[in-house]
Amino acid sequence: MSLNLSTAAVHTMTNKPWTLAQCCDAYARAGFGGISVWRNVIESIGIKEAARIVRGSGLKVPALVRGGFFPAFDSSIRQKAVDENKTCIDEAAAVGAEMVVLVVGAVVGMPLTEARKQVTEGISRCLEHAQANQIKLAIEPLHPMYAADRSCINRMKEARLVCEQLRSPYVGIACDVYHVWWDPDIETEIELAGQQGTLFGFHVCDWRPNTRDLLNDRGVMGEGCINIPHLRACVEKAGFKGLNEIEIFSTEKWALDQNVYLNEIAEAYKQFV
Ligand code: ZN
Repeated sequence: MSLNLSTAAVHTMTNKPWTLAQCCDAYARAGFGGISVWRNVIESIGIKEAARIVRGSGLKVPALVRGGFFPAFDSSIRQKAVDENKTCIDEAAAVGAEMVVLVVGAVVGMPLTEARKQVTEGISRCLEHAQANQIKLAIEPLHPMYAADRSCINRMKEARLVCEQLRSPYVGIACDVYHVWWDPDIETEIELAGQQGTLFGFHVCDWRPNTRDLLNDRGVMGEGCINIPHLRACVEKAGFKGLNEIEIFSTEKWALDQNVYLNEIAEAYKQFV
């Protein structure tokens, strides 16, 4: 059965050439249910104006993207990261987002186990602020190709271990099919996240087998090898009730007419998610 667009939110980075106002207009007009806001579109206009635009659109806002990057050799840099994440929480509250997505970070030369310890500590230092603002923090496991310098958390399992240590209703997981589709334990981990109440977000795009760039060559749903309907069935079975977030970074697609491209995304969502 084809999905209604009202069940989807689009990440502003998907249409990188657009301003926040253009994204809001286009997503609402197309019938999408929500928008996830990247900080770069806030930067140029300021948080007050951004909040006015987003709240005026009537769109739901699953996420502000992104916080994280906790580990560092120097404690003053770790402190800066915590402060920056608190600012993310403030911005999320201002635009009416449910959660801040965390790309947790990794440092070249630091053992991943130590980096994960620092991530856990960094998140714990943001928890009081998250709770005070009622903003959830969603750890997004990143594909292991990013383990060197972007994320020491590469599978749902490592994210779960952090959640189990912190045991807060404000700490959970954003499951992005691009990063975790290959994980042999994915079904079990999604089920566990459902049981533990930590399945905060579900992000969709596709993995092009002949990928040309590790960052900016994501496929539109249906262009790659990920069995998205299966993973969606898994998160729904686990009790996930949020919007499915469409998040595609693609140099190729950013060069297109973004209205035509958004149409392509809408059709792909209905057919392949
Ligand atoms: Zn994602």
